[in-house]
Amino acid sequence: MTLSYSTDIVIFGGGVAGLWLLNSLRDDGYRVILFENRSLGGGQTLASQGIIHGGLKYALSGSLSGAANVISQMPKRWRQCLQGASKGDPDLSGVKLLSDHYYMWSDSSITSKLKTFLGSKSLQGRVTTVARGDYPDIFAASTIAGTLYQLPDFVLDSTSLVKVLAAKYAKDIYQLPPGKLEFCRESSGAVSSIGVSVKDGQVRIAAQKILFCAGEGNQALIEQAGLKFPVGQIRPLNMVTVKKHGLPPVFVHCISDTFSLTPRITITSHTDQAGNTVWYLGGELAESGVGKPPNEQVSAAQSLMTSLFPWINFNDAEWSCFEINRAEANISNNYRPDDAHLIEEDNIWIAWPTKLTLTPSLADKTMDRLRSTNLLPSKQESTETLNSLFARTRVASSPWD
Ligand SMILES: Cc1cc2nc3c(=O)[nH]c(=O)nc-3n(C[C@H](O)[C@H](O)[C@H](O)COP(=O)(O)OP(=O)(O)OC[C@H]3O[C@@H](n4cnc5c(N)ncnc54)[C@H](O)[C@@H]3O)c2cc1C
Repeated sequence: MTLSYSTDIVIFGGGVAGLWLLNSLRDDGYRVILFENRSLGGGQTLASQGIIHGGLKYALSGSLSGAANVISQMPKRWRQCLQGASKGDPDLSGVKLLSDHYYMWSDSSITSKLKTFLGSKSLQGRVTTVARGDYPDIFAASTIAGTLYQLPDFVLDSTSLVKVLAAKYAKDIYQLPPGKLEFCRESSGAVSSIGVSVKDGQVRIAAQKILFCAGEGNQALIEQAGLKFPVGQIRPLNMVTVKKHGLPPVFVHCISDTFSLTPRITITSHTDQAGNTVWYLGGELAESGVGKPPNEQVSAAQSLMTSLFPWINFNDAEWSCFEINRAEANISNNYRPDDAHLIEEDNIWIAWPTKLTLTPSLADKTMDRLRSTNLLPSKQESTETLNSLFARTRVASSPWD
């Protein structure tokens, strides 16, 4: 049995990139279907710390480049979405904000060095020193000397982000069944349809554009589609979680004597399904912990945390770690990209947001590119065939659940 269906755009991958683009494209009137092969958000998106960055790291490294300027616009843009739909961006008013502020804590050993950096022109007005009387509770109880800075960054709950982005066009999201995809090409080289295996045969889905938004899975799709040049790269991390009922929430980069552009530790706080606070630890700890056995990584985290937070009681806390890869475009020689990338070959576009924060920049690039190709939305075809063949996809659980 071979069935056929036609649409304007097919998206592969239901992380933040695929779901955001589904919203932008559908809002613009295009017919779009999205296939997810596991569960929504279950790649990097739900494992992310949810920090919407303002680009402090790039500013610290010197003058503000174009890319640093892009990221510095992102917190404001996300905040507008959190207040409701804004200039073509999705309405994220249902997304939970975990912390309206993100902080940077330095112990006294590097205070003077840091002051010089923070006094630089590029950072003026973007980072403020917090007066001791205004410290959030957890730092007010600190027993060590240090300085607290408030950044323009903030933290959102990525599970609620995925749920909100998946809600409006839920009927256009399908579970991709296991099996190889067949990319059927015209003589021009463009892919005219994709063959998807189903129980009793195949469905051929004709589309004008195909978007790969599959994070780490982009590489397998690139190979299945026989593309020549776009390649991805991965950056592995070994993230640590600390669970304990009643731990106070904390949202902070800790930098210390080994001052570098990667904080020693980057902490966000979440709540698991049992109501425990979860401190989620990234930064240099996660980068340098790659390949370490779990007991070594946990013990590195324990000694770092007890030295940074000697006033916190970690007795009875549950510590664990897991490895996960960040997936990015490999633009040149394993260089770390600092903006979102949309790479095009034939009528397939491969999307890498680089960071959750930069998803609106990815959407701008995609929509600009689409408008310049003069692709016009076509008439809606009944989705009955698809509904009878493909299951619905669920939202993944957080790594700490
Ligand atoms: C530990 C960690 C912490 C991070 N913290 C932050 C942060 O605080 N702030 C920030 O801005 N960024 C952060 N990031 C980066 C951010 O999470 C990613 O840039 C972003 O989530 C990538 O989104 P995506 O949709 O491209 O990919 P993903 O979220 O990985 O989604 C890809 C989806 O595609 C699906 N898929 C795979 N193969 C196929 C296929 N063949 N067909 C169909 N579907 C497929 C997957 O199942 C998955 O659901 C972090 C990343 C990690 C790993």
